[in-house]
Amino acid sequence: MNCYEHATLDITVPAVAVCPHCGAALCTEHLHKCEKESFFNNVIGNPRQLAPKREMCCASCAQSQCAS
Ligand SMILES: [Zn+2]
Ligand SMILES: [Zn+2]
Ligand SMILES: [Zn+2]
Repeated sequence: MNCYEHATLDITVPAVAVCPHCGAALCTEHLHKCEKESFFNNVIGNPRQLAPKREMCCASCAQSQCAS
């Protein structure tokens, strides 16, 4: 799987993570680490996220879904 953000630029870069919000594959350059001290978001259908977590999000989801 290759980085989605780079793919839009016609550049192929191996992805190292997948955005949990939109499913975009991301390289190290494009992933945004969202560290959440507590799990406040009650994500429907994803009840296993109980511990503090670190998400690897794409830029747009980091802003729209994870901005504090
Ligand atoms: Zn990239
Ligand atoms: Zn995303
Ligand atoms: Zn995030």
